[in-house]
Amino acid sequence: MSQFLNGALRRLTPYTPGEQPRNQAYIKLNTNESPYPPSPGVLAALNRAEGENLRLYSDPEAVELREALAARYRVERESVFVANGSDEALSFAFLAYAADGRGVAFPDISYGFYAVFARLYGIPVRQVPLRADFRLAPEDYNHLHRTIVLANPNAPTGLALSRDEVEGIVRANPDAVVVVDEAYVDFGGESAVPLTARYPNLLVVQTFSKSRSMAGARLGYAIGDAALIQDLEAIRFSTNPYNVNRLTLRTGAAALAEQDYYDANCAAIVDTAPIPSGGWRRLASPAPTPGRTSSLPAIRQRTAGTSTGGSRSAGCWCAASTPPASGDYIRITIGTRAQMDALLERLEGLL
Ligand SMILES: *Cc1c(COP(=O)(O)O)cnc(C)c1O
Repeated sequence: MSQFLNGALRRLTPYTPGEQPRNQAYIKLNTNESPYPPSPGVLAALNRAEGENLRLYSDPEAVELREALAARYRVERESVFVANGSDEALSFAFLAYAADGRGVAFPDISYGFYAVFARLYGIPVRQVPLRADFRLAPEDYNHLHRTIVLANPNAPTGLALSRDEVEGIVRANPDAVVVVDEAYVDFGGESAVPLTARYPNLLVVQTFSKSRSMAGARLGYAIGDAALIQDLEAIRFSTNPYNVNRLTLRTGAAALAEQDYYDANCAAIVDTAPIPSGGWRRLASPAPTPGRTSSLPAIRQRTAGTSTGGSRSAGCWCAASTPPASGDYIRITIGTRAQMDALLERLEGLL
């Protein structure tokens, strides 16, 4: 760091993204990307004419994409915010609803970026411990008088609250915004989007990165009461009005027109999940927690041989899970059936 850095930023602990190994020899299972390519319409949209249009700025209102999202989720366009990845939408929500001393609450085991945003904006954090079985107890979130951020399904546990449980938390905190991060909802969770019409304090954040095979395009969105969306828009127009690039706006809309393709891929991932967990049960115990994400998030390591480093030496690149569970667990993205078979075979060799 330089001597010139803003004092408030000197104690930042930036988020460490999952590594992107250049070596294609690895079976890459560390960042919950989809093993399937984007749909044909997305690939077709990446044509020469769109390339030539890159000389133009993107639509700062993102009208086409927001209307497509509004139609898909049966909400008004004014209830939809689009972002450069859902990380951006989450970052704006932390800034909008907690950076004035109100503070934020989230589970002690969850998406690692929440703590990073809180530090960046100087937000006091209350970490709410999960129960011993990794379950999130909704009653722990009643009347907290601060912004609440929940990944649902949670990552890396893969465990989900029902829509009714989310609604209970939203009702129990009428003086605070409840942000529900639904990055994995398409793998079998119950979305809270239908509740957004009734609760002015509920913001649901989703992404094209996991279930829609577009992690590299950087596209996320938030759905909520139009007043909440205006708050996020005020931040966006104060930082980067062209936050989503032209190609991503086009390909995002194209992806929404091919929902069946993505539904089939999600079903394949959900169907594939029991293969590695069943195999793991043979190799090691205890068994992984059941999950509703695109990863097997909480597989307990039996020996050093199955650590992230160990699995890497077997040609599989997996992720260590977040503290306080890190070291004890590795998180394995669900890939194709062939990738999962290869993973198990290599781990078997290792053990
Ligand atoms: C992957 C992930 C994100 C970030 O998604 P992007 O849209 O790629 O920024 C947010 N929350 C959770 C829980 C995730 O797993």
